[in-house]
Amino acid sequence: MRILVIGGGGREHALIRKLKRSPHVEKIWCVPGNGGIAAEAECVAGDPADVAALVSLAEKLRPDLTVVGPELPLVNGIGDAFRAKSLPIVAPSQKAAQLEGSKIFAKEFLQRHAIPTAELYGTYDSPGDAYGALCAVDWPVVIKADGLCAGKGVFVAPNPDAATDFIERVMVNNELGPGGRRVLLEEGLEGEELSFIVTADGERYTALVPTRDHKRVFDGNQGPNTGGMGAYSTDDLLPAELRDTVIGSIVEPTLQGLKAEGIDYQGFLYVGLMLTKSGPKVLEFNCRLGDPETQAIVARMDFDLAEVLADAAAGRLDPEKLRWKPGASVCVVLASGGYPGKFEVGKQIDGLTDAERITGVNVFHAGTKREGDAVVSSGGRVLGVTAAAPSLEAALAAAYEASGKIHFDGMHYRKDIAAKPSRSSSVAR
Ligand code: AMP
Repeated sequence: MRILVIGGGGREHALIRKLKRSPHVEKIWCVPGNGGIAAEAECVAGDPADVAALVSLAEKLRPDLTVVGPELPLVNGIGDAFRAKSLPIVAPSQKAAQLEGSKIFAKEFLQRHAIPTAELYGTYDSPGDAYGALCAVDWPVVIKADGLCAGKGVFVAPNPDAATDFIERVMVNNELGPGGRRVLLEEGLEGEELSFIVTADGERYTALVPTRDHKRVFDGNQGPNTGGMGAYSTDDLLPAELRDTVIGSIVEPTLQGLKAEGIDYQGFLYVGLMLTKSGPKVLEFNCRLGDPETQAIVARMDFDLAEVLADAAAGRLDPEKLRWKPGASVCVVLASGGYPGKFEVGKQIDGLTDAERITGVNVFHAGTKREGDAVVSSGGRVLGVTAAAPSLEAALAAAYEASGKIHFDGMHYRKDIAAKPSRSSSVAR
């Protein structure tokens, strides 16, 4: 099997390392890849958002399978474009990807199908209307920019001043670009978050192991939001009864609702949940795998990923093939000094080989590139130090021991991955 992977972060590195272990896989290309991926696949320069260019590339390479990491190509219609050329791909259609591409589309879909979610106060396409609506909401209120905003489009506003300021930045100053032209206001939910991801082939679906990620930059859920500072997976995150509720009240109604609207969902569907006192509720949908959740999920895979994804692309997914290692996995993200604000790149990274000698550890590259024999930083999130072990404690110990062996100037990481958030910190965003 010859596989094309789109993306260049830690998620794609984890997927590629796992795909390579399959005896079916002969060759992997990655657009654009990174310094770690370059050692395991042939990196091809290109823009993951440029669907037309990716179609031309794939027509030349004729991969047996294409796997897509980030959301932009999906929202730009890569699934439809590849299938139109009979290029096998794991990707939802452009219409289905609206579940991620438009928060308002997703919210209206959830309401149409009576799927539990935060109560919607309203959707607004002028700042005046949004300011006006603030007098009739409970606090905190959640403000969501409608379109893709690189993870910056959601704000949990504790009071009217903070809400007004966010609306002004998004709708008046256009700080998030066109994704901020419309916003929705919804109820703030309290509880612990959980990521529940399924893979579907248009007919059947199967769940991946549950994960929880850590979005805030500092320990104790302090500081600004990031793309994700770490994630972990244990079966304890999702006891059997809760799993049944999530499947029965959320996942199946979602897939059936899509089907009723003419969408046979194929690809990954990421359901971001808040586990509230009145049951699990949907915070968001993504139409792809998460980053860094994928690193933690891959660490627990005990099956041939290439075979399963080829099955999903061909519409013959066999849920029985997905076997998982018991125990736990952890991914600790090592970030550049200053991230998620301004940061410097080009810092030499040492200790990678020593870190990967530790049993159960994989170091996935995110923002790295090669300079001669050296690996240097090239992004905000630089590495995802990932470990699987029979217990959460052992996985944490291995991931942190490995992180301690790695060094680059300014490097920082959270020391409390998998710790329970305190109540106050989970509310005050
Ligand atoms: P989203 O992209 O919609 O998941 O939002 C990003 C993050 O904002 C989520 O992971 C939550 O931490 C938070 N969030 C989103 N919606 C809500 C809500 N209704 N109540 C509380 N927190 C929320």
